[in-house]
Amino acid sequence: MLLRNATIATLDPPGVEKASLRIEGERIVERGPSLVPAAGEEVLDLEGALVVPGLVNAHTHLYSALARGMPGPEEPPRSFVEILEKVWWRLDRALEEESVYLSGLVGAIEAARSGTTVIFDHHASPSFIRGSLATVRRAVEEVGLRSALCYETTDRNGLEGRDAGIAENRAFLAAGRSTLTLGMVGAHASFTLSDESLDRLSETVREASSNLHVHVAEDRADVEDCRKRYGKGLVERLKCHGLLGPHAILVHGVHLTEEELQDAQASGAWVIHCPRSNMNNAVGHAPTAAFRRAALGTDGLDSDMLAEARVAFLGMRDAGRADAFAAAFDMLVGGHRLAEAFFGLPLGNLETGAPADLVVLDYRPPTPLTPANLAGHLLFGLDRSHVRSTMVAGRFVLRDRRLTTVDEAAVLARTRVAADALWERMQRL
Ligand SMILES: [Zn+2]
Repeated sequence: MLLRNATIATLDPPGVEKASLRIEGERIVERGPSLVPAAGEEVLDLEGALVVPGLVNAHTHLYSALARGMPGPEEPPRSFVEILEKVWWRLDRALEEESVYLSGLVGAIEAARSGTTVIFDHHASPSFIRGSLATVRRAVEEVGLRSALCYETTDRNGLEGRDAGIAENRAFLAAGRSTLTLGMVGAHASFTLSDESLDRLSETVREASSNLHVHVAEDRADVEDCRKRYGKGLVERLKCHGLLGPHAILVHGVHLTEEELQDAQASGAWVIHCPRSNMNNAVGHAPTAAFRRAALGTDGLDSDMLAEARVAFLGMRDAGRADAFAAAFDMLVGGHRLAEAFFGLPLGNLETGAPADLVVLDYRPPTPLTPANLAGHLLFGLDRSHVRSTMVAGRFVLRDRRLTTVDEAAVLARTRVAADALWERMQRL
């Protein structure tokens, strides 16, 4: 297939160029100012539309996709831990195979519609653990996106639940990666994991040569619990259990100190900033000035990375950071760096040989668009309403605003019914 007449904008380093792309199989095989169609080749004239690399959601929970509009708890939660206890831990307990599958489908559809092609997911469904990751994979692959999946290991459902969580991560990793999907090892957070549990997780990461995806210092309660029970800070605790390093994805870091962040990132660990979630849970403001190896995550809200980047920017400005512009842009690019490291593919560029993971945006800039001001257009101009088409591994999963892989209307009709049943089950838990 030949994509002609595109305005190609790459982010790392920023570049803007009018060009055509030839796509064969899963990859871009040629890029040039005016490629000539081969005999019988499908040609798509993009009429100057903007093409960017597919965006990366570095932390989310697809299982929360059916939570939108659900009735809240009778008594409003008064703290972060109460939000978990009264909302999310009731929702995840009510999930069974079908609702896990449908959440995955609807979450992936929304991601495709937002131009997000890679999802780092953190899954929990304590009543349906075994086989849950294969179920999420089936859903996300059906829509056609890439994902890195893990099961949230935690002690909160007893040792049996913990062991089942570890076993699910192990089984999924043992099944091996596919073109679109790979496994990681998931852990909830320090405050729901004993020393023995962390050792088990460390063993699993080591044995499978895999990665760890864990919430760290989202709320002050996590920090206080760690100090009180283990007499150390969170980063120190992870380090003691061999859980720091380039294989570690630490989510939030809202209450980590500058030294802790330096320490963690010096080991190669990634820090994921989820500003909209942090605001929604009123957990505080992440010390983003110390974020170096950072990417953005939506933490279950949706997979709209342009919205997340804009809020990251505004949050940093609001906190008085003069370099917020560059920092927010860098975090968006950080998603590509993370995905490249984990998937071993050049997912952030649109050069010859790169995977054909891209987004076509109906964006007609009212001002010049140049490499120097690309961040300004991304943070102030572009939003998901501009997403016309999304391609992953050479296949349009969204083309001219229609899903090509699944019957979206039929899926949504099903999810509305399933959501109602899920909310009813929640009330009984
Ligand atoms: Zn999370």
